[in-house]
Amino acid sequence: MELAYRDIAYCKNVGAKRADILRNELNVRTALDMIRQYPYKYIDRSRFYRIAELNDEDTYVQIIGEVTEWHTVGIGKAQRLSAMFNDGTHQCELVWFKGVQYVKLQRGVKYLLFGKPSRFNHIFNFVHPELTPWSKVTPEMTQGLEPYYNTTERMKRVNLNSKAMRTIIADLMPDVKKGVPDTIGVDILQRYRLMSLTEALVNVHFPKDTPSMQNARARLKFEELFYIQLQILRQMKRREQNPGFAMPIVGNRFHALYKALPFALTGAQKRVIREIHEDLKSGHQMNRLLQGDVGSGKTLVALLCCLLAVDNGYQTCIMAPTEILANQHYETLKAFLAPLGDAVHVALLTGSTTPKNRVPIHNGLMNGSIHILIGTHALLEDNVQWQNLGFVVIDEQHRFGVAQRAKLWTKNQMPPHILVMTATPIPRTLAMTVYGDLHVSIIDELPPGRKPIQTVHYSLQKRAQVYSFMRQQIQAGRQIYVVFPLIKENEKMDLQDLQNGFNELCEAFPEYKISMVHGQMKAADKDMQMQRFASGETQILVATTVIEVGVNVPNATVMMIQNAERFGLSQLHQLRGRVGRGGEQSYCLLLTNTEISTDTRKRMDIMVATNDGFRIAEADLQLRGPGDLEGTLQSGTPFDLHIANLATDGQLLTLARQAALDILNTDPLLEDERNRIYKRQLDVLRIEQSYNWGEIS
Ligand code: ADP
Ligand code: MG
Repeated sequence: MELAYRDIAYCKNVGAKRADILRNELNVRTALDMIRQYPYKYIDRSRFYRIAELNDEDTYVQIIGEVTEWHTVGIGKAQRLSAMFNDGTHQCELVWFKGVQYVKLQRGVKYLLFGKPSRFNHIFNFVHPELTPWSKVTPEMTQGLEPYYNTTERMKRVNLNSKAMRTIIADLMPDVKKGVPDTIGVDILQRYRLMSLTEALVNVHFPKDTPSMQNARARLKFEELFYIQLQILRQMKRREQNPGFAMPIVGNRFHALYKALPFALTGAQKRVIREIHEDLKSGHQMNRLLQGDVGSGKTLVALLCCLLAVDNGYQTCIMAPTEILANQHYETLKAFLAPLGDAVHVALLTGSTTPKNRVPIHNGLMNGSIHILIGTHALLEDNVQWQNLGFVVIDEQHRFGVAQRAKLWTKNQMPPHILVMTATPIPRTLAMTVYGDLHVSIIDELPPGRKPIQTVHYSLQKRAQVYSFMRQQIQAGRQIYVVFPLIKENEKMDLQDLQNGFNELCEAFPEYKISMVHGQMKAADKDMQMQRFASGETQILVATTVIEVGVNVPNATVMMIQNAERFGLSQLHQLRGRVGRGGEQSYCLLLTNTEISTDTRKRMDIMVATNDGFRIAEADLQLRGPGDLEGTLQSGTPFDLHIANLATDGQLLTLARQAALDILNTDPLLEDERNRIYKRQLDVLRIEQSYNWGEIS
C-alpha cells in the first residue's frame, strides 16, 4: 500500500498506543507522515576521538578505551556511579545518576564510549554515556551519519525516544526506496538540480555521506518554501484580479502641495510615489507595503498619495497605532497642508475625541466633506461610515491585528486601496513570507543633510562620564531621552527601576526639569508630559519604550538607553531613530552592565557599527532566529517551517519563490493540466484552510 495511505498504527514497532501519541504530539497519521519527520541533527559515527583532543564544544563524540576504576556514592535513589575511562592518551570521568544498578562495568575490556563531554574541574565528564563492549559493536553503529529526532515528554513516557523513531523509520525505508510520488515536477527538479523526493527521503534519514545529506535537505527545504510561496503568490495573483477604484488623475491638490514643499523629494520618495500611482491607476485593488527606515519621509509620501486619491474624488484615512502618533500625524499634515488653505479638509478621530466632537466628524465622513481622516482604532468603529473611502494608509502595521484590518473591508462595497507602512526594516526572507502577498516599495534613501547618529556603548561604571556629556548637550540647548526597559512579566520591578532612575536623574540634574512617561499612566497625563518635553519646557524625558514609535522632537539629540542588554536589536534601532531628526549632530548612548554575554556584546557592536536598519534587521534574524522575530512583528506567519530556516535559507527561498512565480505567471489559478501536481499537493497540505488571513489585507 502507498505510504500515504498506510495507518501509522500498523507500522512495525508502533501499535495503537504509540500511534495515538504520535498523532497527538507530532500530527503523524500515516507512514508517509512519519517519513516526513526529519532529523534535527546528525552525529558522525564514523569518526573516533581521543580524549586528549576534546575541547569544550558540546557535541557528541565517540572514543575507544577502557574503564580503569569506579565507585558508587550514596544509597537508593540518591545513588551515583562514577567511573574513570582511559583511552591511552588521557582519562575522563563517566557519571550515572539513574539506573545505576543496571550499569555493569568490567576491567580490561575494550569499550566504545559515546556521549557529550563537558569540562568540570579540569577533567572531561560524560553524564549517562552509551558504553558498549567493543565485541558487541556492529559495523552499522560506527558507519555514517546517525540521525536524531525531536521527541516530546509524552513520547518519551512510552519510550518513543529518538532511537525508537529511528527504528520505526528505518523499517519503512525499503518501501520508501520503491518510490514515493514526487511533489515537484521534473522540469523544476532539473532546472534547480534537485533530488527526487524518493532520493531525498532516503538520504535525509540515512545519508551515505555529508554531501548527500545536504542535498537531501536542500531539496526538502526547497519543497517546503516552494509550496508556501505558491500559496502566498496565488493569493496575490487572485487579488490582483480584484477590481479597485481607478484613480488616474494627478490633480490640483497634489501639484499644489508638491510645489509648496520647502524641500525637494528624495529620489526614493519619488520612485515610491510613482509605484503607488501605477497601482491606483490600474483599476485593481492595491495591497502594498511601504518600507523605509525611521526618518526616511514615509509620512509625506503617505500624504501625497492621499492627495492623489482626494483629487480623484475619494476619501482617505491614515490609521496610527497610538493616540500620540495619531496626534502627531495630524499636526504634521496640517502644517504641510497649510499653504493649500481650505482645499483639503483633515480631521482627527481617536479614543479621546468627545462624543460632541464626533458628531461633525461622522457627518463630514458621510457627506464626503472630510478628505483625510487620521486616527487610531477608533476609526474602525461601526458607527464610522464613509461616503466613498478609497485609500487607506496603515502606519506601523505590526501593531495592528489582521482582524482589525479586515474591518476596513466591510466599510465599502469595493475594497479601498491599502498602503501598509512600516519603519521596522524586515529581513528580506521574512518579508517574503510574512508580507509575501503584498507588493513592496522601499524608501532606501534618507533626506539629504542628515548627520549620521553617533552610537557609543558604555558600561555602568562610566555613568559619571555619560552624565557629564548629557550636561554639555543640555547646556548647548539640546534635549535628551532616557529610556528604561519594561517587560510585562516584570512590570512591578521595572516600574520601580524607572522610578529610581528618575529620582537619580533628578538628583544628578537638579538645575533641569525632567518629565516621565510610561505605559501605566493615564493617556492624558502621558500626553501632558510628552507635550512638556516637545515644547521644550523639560530638558530630559525619562520613559519606557512607549516612545519607541513615532515621537518627533527635532531638538532632542541624545538617546540614552539604560540596560541596553535587555532590548532587542530592532527595538534599539527604533529608539535610536527618535534622535537625529534636526540639523544637530545626535548621539545614542547604550548603557549596559559591566558583565555582558557574548550575544549582548555582538548586539552592541552592531549598533555602534551601523545605522542601516536593514543590516540590523538581518543581524537580528541571525542572532535570534526567525521565530522570535516573527513574535515581535506580531504578524505571525501562519506557516510552520519543519525543515527550512528563514535565517539561513534565504537563497533557497529566493529560488523557490521564483519557481512558484514562473508557474503562476502563466497559470495564475493552477488550472493547467500540467500543473495538477501542484494544485493537488496544495490541497494535501491544506495550507489553504490555515491560511485565510491572506484574503483580508
Ligand atoms: P518616517 O515616518 O519615515 O520616520 P518622517 O515622515 O517622519 O519619516 O520624516 C522625517 C522628517 O524628514 C520629517 O520632519 C519630514 O518633514 C522630513 N522630510 C521628509 N522628506 C524630506 C525630504 N525629501 N527632504 C528633507 N526633509 C524631509
Ligand atoms: Mg513615521
